Amino acid sequence: MENVTEFLNYIDGKWQPCGSGSTFENRNPADQDDLLGHFQASSAEDAQQAIAAAEKAFPAWRDTPISRRAKILNQAADYLVEHIEQFAQELTREEGKLLANSRDEIARSAQTLRFYAVEGQTITGETFPQDDARMMVYTQREPLGVATIITPWNFPISIPARKIAPALITGNTVVFKPSSDAPLIAHRLAEALHHAGIPEGVFNFMTGSASAIGQEITGTPAVRAVSFTGSTAAGEKIHRSVSLATRTQMELGGKNPLIILDDADIDTAVDLTIKGGFALTGQACTGTSRVLVARSIKAEYLSRLVERMKELQVGNGLDKGTQIGPLATRQQLDTVLGYIETGKREATHVHGGERLSGGAYDKGFYVSPAIFSDVTQEMRIAQEEIFGPVVAVIEIDGYDDAIVKANDTPYGLSAALVTQNIDYIQRFPLDIQAGTVKVNRTTTGNLINAPFGGLKQSSTSTFRESGRAGLDFFTQTKTVYVGR
Ligand code: NAD
Repeated sequence: MENVTEFLNYIDGKWQPCGSGSTFENRNPADQDDLLGHFQASSAEDAQQAIAAAEKAFPAWRDTPISRRAKILNQAADYLVEHIEQFAQELTREEGKLLANSRDEIARSAQTLRFYAVEGQTITGETFPQDDARMMVYTQREPLGVATIITPWNFPISIPARKIAPALITGNTVVFKPSSDAPLIAHRLAEALHHAGIPEGVFNFMTGSASAIGQEITGTPAVRAVSFTGSTAAGEKIHRSVSLATRTQMELGGKNPLIILDDADIDTAVDLTIKGGFALTGQACTGTSRVLVARSIKAEYLSRLVERMKELQVGNGLDKGTQIGPLATRQQLDTVLGYIETGKREATHVHGGERLSGGAYDKGFYVSPAIFSDVTQEMRIAQEEIFGPVVAVIEIDGYDDAIVKANDTPYGLSAALVTQNIDYIQRFPLDIQAGTVKVNRTTTGNLINAPFGGLKQSSTSTFRESGRAGLDFFTQTKTVYVGR
């Protein structure tokens, strides 16, 4: 029997196994022989215990001085930074991303905790002039209560951090369920908060499947907020099933276009395609999934793109020189290979898309980046989120045609335009149906201090997350009339 750690849930300030004693495995997608640990397969009873602990802890946490809440976030950030090398290795081993990307993600998570430690202290209300001089009328912002945080595997610490930090600093208590495909780094975040002295029950961490605990952690009336990031299908299901009294925030899928007009610098356009479409193995919600390129430059663009793609090194994210890691799970591998087959039937297969094998490749989920051309609007690879290193190239006849085609999917997360034409640059943010709009930059990436979210089926969009907007979701406004 291998000597592998069993990781525990963190409920009511105690590290504990789930009630049933069942666990599940977490393995490295670059090397399936590498077992990172066993995690708790929690059940509905464990979830009820976590929610009850969070409910009990809420009044005292709401009344805790904000400077103390901020100190805990800052100390948790210190813990992440102190362990960044160990945690980055672990993140790469469980999710597959490059070591440099893992380091960036952990540093960004620490920065997010620090950002909210400060920004959370700047929440304001309003006062209102009125006729009664003996009365004061003002608004105050308050926490909601118990907040459930549900997150995906692709940014398994930075997405939790950008939800948990604003929830805690504003005085909510938290039940956090990470993806079962990347639970270790989420566990490290729980450790960081524990180490920082978070009071019992204020923050609870539990692993388990959506089918076993999903309904409990979203549908229990004591849960006053659900902040979810994941697939549109799961988000829609949760959004429809929660009670009216539960506030929801759903950050969902995308089918993000990069639009390349005929005046674009072709090398820049190729660079933006590689970074947006293939970096992170295409497993970013804002990843470039469609390229809409001007007919007149398409041939030249494709030829230079293929030359660059031939140089890309696919391999283990721990190895120096690797540029594209494995897909994160076997399910991802099957889905992406399925779309590559669909692409071959529907469109023109230009390059890549092989399941890589031989040597170390045999132990992991490796696929070479793929490009398809002559893609038209009705094709599945033009409409559906693939979430892998697969880019569909669509021809356009000018800016107006590009906008019609770019907007013609159910999604609206991120979109980018490559041009120097100031007229189009100015029109683009209004014309494009996307929550994140970029010009001469990749579709991927967003700032900690700016709001983030999508339109259409990419987000419920009532509340943005990240930046100052992240605080709005976790607070409610009361209007107070005080006479004397
Ligand atoms: P997923 O929807 O399968 O799972 C996300 C999380 O939700 C997991 O923790 C899962 O266990 C949980 N879950 C699923 N169904 C649930 C239910 N009914 N009740 C409660 N919990 C439930 O997504 P994934 O495969 O982990 O992540 C990939 C998806 O996430 C992609 O669609 C991607 O676009 C999206 N994503 C979106 C953003 C964004 O900010 N918009 C960011 C990253 C990823």
